[in-house]
Amino acid sequence: MATSATTDPTRLMIDEQLVGRGIRDQRVLDAIAAVPRNAFVPAEIRSRAFDDCALPIGYGQTISQPYMVALMTEALNTKATDRVLEIGTGSGYQAAVLSKLVAEVFTVERVKPLLDGAFETFGKLNLKNIHLKHADGSIGWGDQGPFDRIVVTAAAPDVPAMLVDQLKEGGIIVVPTGTRDRQQLMKFTKQKGVLTPTALCDCRFVPLLGEAGWTA
Ligand code: SAH
Repeated sequence: MATSATTDPTRLMIDEQLVGRGIRDQRVLDAIAAVPRNAFVPAEIRSRAFDDCALPIGYGQTISQPYMVALMTEALNTKATDRVLEIGTGSGYQAAVLSKLVAEVFTVERVKPLLDGAFETFGKLNLKNIHLKHADGSIGWGDQGPFDRIVVTAAAPDVPAMLVDQLKEGGIIVVPTGTRDRQQLMKFTKQKGVLTPTALCDCRFVPLLGEAGWTA
């Protein structure tokens, strides 16, 4: 008898949206397989949790498209000992995926109810290596730095200077930069204090607001 194809929504999402589009890092795919995306989506749209798109999470914000989360995570090229800073906690999904790959995740969000929601979800999923802060993350998290990796999950006009200061030598920062409506997902490697850029793809993120971001 022929074996039927999987109906597990996480597996389908990984096979079709991630592997199908060229995500190859098995550690990243395993981390995504280990995090239930539906736990990070508001109850009223939970049936769409595995859809191939960003979804609204309230307060005008979104949980990023699965492919975008995978691409950013792969680009960070993390090690198990890393301390990673994320700007823009949102639903907490990206932080949860990172928490499976690295030692400590530090995540900053400016919308308090979103931060509180993410904190609650991390508790339910027993994720213990994520630290949360309610603040303007465009200036980083100075007293916890420097970090091995930094990811900004909101669109910035340019790479925020204080984030570069808080990135270790040899570190990687991934950030969508461009205009308020259109950006490129950029990866920068810091060597001898200088950033070397690689453009990953065109993208559209919600704006990074704050001191090194856009005005509300
Ligand atoms: N990583 C998130 C995606 C969230 S969308 C996830 O996996 O769900 C981007 C988030 O960045 C929004 O929640 C928005 O409120 C937040 N944000 C925007 N500007 C910010 C700033 N200056 N500091 C911290 N968070 C910010």
